[in-house]
Amino acid sequence: MSETPVPGFSTLAVHAGAKPDPATGARATPIYQTTSFVFDDVDHAASLFGLQAFGNIYTRITNPTTAVLEERVAALEGGTAALGVASGHAAEFLTFHALLTPGDEFVASTKLYGGSINQFNHSYKNFGWTPKWADPDDLSAFEAAISPRTKAIFIESIANPGGVIVDIEAIAKIAKRARVPLIVDNTLASPYLLKPIDYGADIVVHSATKFLGGHGNSLGGVVVDGGTFDWLADKRYPMLSEPRPEYNGMVLGETFGNFAFAIALRVLGLRDLGPALSPFNAFMILTGVETLPLRMQKHSDNALAIAEHLSNHPAVKWVSYPGLPGDRYHQLAKKYCPKGAGAVFTFGLTGGYDAGLALVKNLKLFSHLANVGDTRSLVIHPASTTHKQLSDAQKVTAGAGPDVVRVSIGIEDAADLIADLDQALAAS
Ligand SMILES: *Cc1c(COP(=O)(O)O)cnc(C)c1O
Repeated sequence: MSETPVPGFSTLAVHAGAKPDPATGARATPIYQTTSFVFDDVDHAASLFGLQAFGNIYTRITNPTTAVLEERVAALEGGTAALGVASGHAAEFLTFHALLTPGDEFVASTKLYGGSINQFNHSYKNFGWTPKWADPDDLSAFEAAISPRTKAIFIESIANPGGVIVDIEAIAKIAKRARVPLIVDNTLASPYLLKPIDYGADIVVHSATKFLGGHGNSLGGVVVDGGTFDWLADKRYPMLSEPRPEYNGMVLGETFGNFAFAIALRVLGLRDLGPALSPFNAFMILTGVETLPLRMQKHSDNALAIAEHLSNHPAVKWVSYPGLPGDRYHQLAKKYCPKGAGAVFTFGLTGGYDAGLALVKNLKLFSHLANVGDTRSLVIHPASTTHKQLSDAQKVTAGAGPDVVRVSIGIEDAADLIADLDQALAAS
């Protein structure tokens, strides 16, 4: 028997998980817009409910369109399985729900998406889950934040909004010593630029709303199970190591081995908490993923050209883009994302807060909105918008001080984007 070669990333982006529709021959993955699925017979129904057979019951738990997206993202990230959910926040929430019990802690990077900081600081209090914050530029802060109640470490790979590259491999070593899983939010990098599991991450989460979908038209989230963590070693993760009464005393970590985490999120998290991805959104995101390699390369090339231009502009005080040779994260960028440092970066205006507002007002091609990862170029002034709820000190630690402007560079012509920035900087 000849060995099938492992397909390359671009091939997986187009094909992984998909085959012509068995019922109709449809080549594009159909949108299975149905809530429920008819059982073959009573025994089949019973085996599905008992987790003795894999199959579809109800779209809150599985759906064939979503399943193709799940298999594809798992393949692109190098994980064992994945779960599609309603949003990036749902992906984070289901992940923590499977790991933490009331009174538990997790260590979180201070350099995160503003929405994650809010979610962790405020809503997670209701569940008795406490974040312990650590600056990813100071690895000893991660060590120091770990206690016997720590159940996970959470970081972003390329961190929102500041163009920060986190030393995943070093933090994975800290997680291994503490015997807790490392969760990496890989939204801004996407697996095209960086695959956290290669560097020791155990779980990868995505806001598929951003680069995976890529066109600014559909919310979604994905959790990828790296298959690397031993859930039974210390019995500190009861959802995976305790018998489940509703599944005849099954221990998920024993029955499902290296994809038990993904199963737990599906048959307990999605089943009971309910943030299912709509099949239509799964289809839109799946279509986006097919061009992920092309788009991410163009995003990164454009972003580098624009960052270079801005760093020579008199109205710009500083540019924080790891792709720039002088940047403090450039060495980490060369190691973790040699193809490019992504679309999102920040820069500071000599004119401060007011100049930030004026720039946003005068840009024409850039859209002023709270998103990243669209084909279109986007701009926001974080201090007056996404990071407004944070204290002044938190704003600065999160890289969102008063003079900061964040851009998500699209896939238009770089020259047009540069011309738009130049006219708006002149007007501000
Ligand atoms: C947008 C975003 C999220 C939240 O995702 P939603 O799909 O908006 O819920 C989480 N992490 C990062 C890095 C994000 O950019």
